[in-house]
Amino acid sequence: MHAPAFPAPVVSLHADPACADHDCTRVEFDADLIGRLGKSGPRYTSYPTADRFGEDFGYRDYLLAVAGLRTRGGARPLSLYLHIPFCDTVCYYCACNKIVTRKREKAATYLSYLKREISMQAGLFAGMNEVEQLHLGGGTPTYLSDAQMDELMAHLRRSFRFAPDETGEYSIEVDPRTVSAERVHTLRRQGFNRISLGVQDFDPEVQRAVNRVQPEAETRAVIAAARAAGFRSVSIDLIYGLPMQTLDTMRATLDKVVAADPDRIAVYHYAHMPRLFKPQRRILEADMPASDTKLRMLQLCIERLGAAGYVYIGMDHFAKPRDELAVAQRQGRLHRNFQGYSTHADTDLVACGVSAIGAVGATYSQNVKTLEEYYELLDRNELPVARGLSLDMDDALRRALIQKLMCQFEVSIPALELAFPIVFRDYFAPELAQLRQMQADGLVRLGPEWLTVTGKGRLLIRNICMVFDRYLAARQDRPRHSHTV
Ligand code: SF4
Repeated sequence: MHAPAFPAPVVSLHADPACADHDCTRVEFDADLIGRLGKSGPRYTSYPTADRFGEDFGYRDYLLAVAGLRTRGGARPLSLYLHIPFCDTVCYYCACNKIVTRKREKAATYLSYLKREISMQAGLFAGMNEVEQLHLGGGTPTYLSDAQMDELMAHLRRSFRFAPDETGEYSIEVDPRTVSAERVHTLRRQGFNRISLGVQDFDPEVQRAVNRVQPEAETRAVIAAARAAGFRSVSIDLIYGLPMQTLDTMRATLDKVVAADPDRIAVYHYAHMPRLFKPQRRILEADMPASDTKLRMLQLCIERLGAAGYVYIGMDHFAKPRDELAVAQRQGRLHRNFQGYSTHADTDLVACGVSAIGAVGATYSQNVKTLEEYYELLDRNELPVARGLSLDMDDALRRALIQKLMCQFEVSIPALELAFPIVFRDYFAPELAQLRQMQADGLVRLGPEWLTVTGKGRLLIRNICMVFDRYLAARQDRPRHSHTV
């Protein structure tokens, strides 16, 4: 990213008035530093990142990981992720693993195989199958009909024990174009208590440019229905950096989002990588906002949402101060996984569906990416694991450190030394040498007991984590990652 061609304002926000003096609520926008340091980097939904997963890890390694849990008592609750890959139409910015089709019968076949995989996983986890968290993502999970969703949820309840509604976190991603108010009520009855809506931008020109025309009234109706149905949390996803977006369209969208009053807001940076993601080739380069405009958009988001009372959680996420994410962050319980931030830290993640990624014990595993392979492996009574990774001690240590940085913006050095057999300053001597420039730039503070990310460093958290990523140097030449800001 080039240095921005506008003055470098420093915006300091104290989003939570109840906590105004505490460093945890501050995020400072320093355009000069962001322009200088923003570069490609992982989003650290896992460490090691998914591009380190190998095909030498397969179905049997996964079985071994689950057996390991059982040997150690299997006391941790579970988090379930189900991937529904289908979409009606394609959004041009999309980088998800999805299948665009109007042949609804495909969903029925998929559902029957998904249920088979769920049964196999339930068998493996028998006796240690208390679920605290469920997330349906895609694709478009509401591509399934009401009856199919009923069938899926009933099957899940037969297969796992679910924590009660008051304590469990059961969420679904919803495309507002695909649901009526009635459907939203049905989803609540089916057991979901959190809903996440893809909005991206309210401006009709921007919507046309990305092939996702979604009238504002439709989205507002879904939010109103979610409130009426008793969803505990309503979340909205936005994207900045889309074609035809300007500061004015962004300002108007933010005003509408704030008026809609969601509990959480995610503002993602659009990563334009047409070489990797085919649908993005339909976006005209000429329609793309310039880099400095994108930075100003980010600044605008931070200012506008901060002024509206939202706390900056980290990466792209904002939440109301009383939302469970903000509370978990203040209490040091926040966690990050493949679905983003979560309040349920100590769980094993069981993932079902094509391309889904799980994290069980000290392993990661990812399912095959095509329907053909998925069906074929399940027909052979094998879990459809395609690749994965068993973490070694160094991986686990760096994972713990990066998690803390991403979620809490600070790491307790004595706590890390207690959990792992290391002397922090010796073990990470090369990394600490690299951090010196970041210290000089005011992004981090290193004391005898704490490594702390400052308000200025928060927007560059990925860059700070990258210092501790042992594998990064080896893949510098591969343009796999989006810009960090
Ligand atoms: S953004 Fe969502 S709805 Fe659009 S194509 Fe991608 S997965 Fe489907």
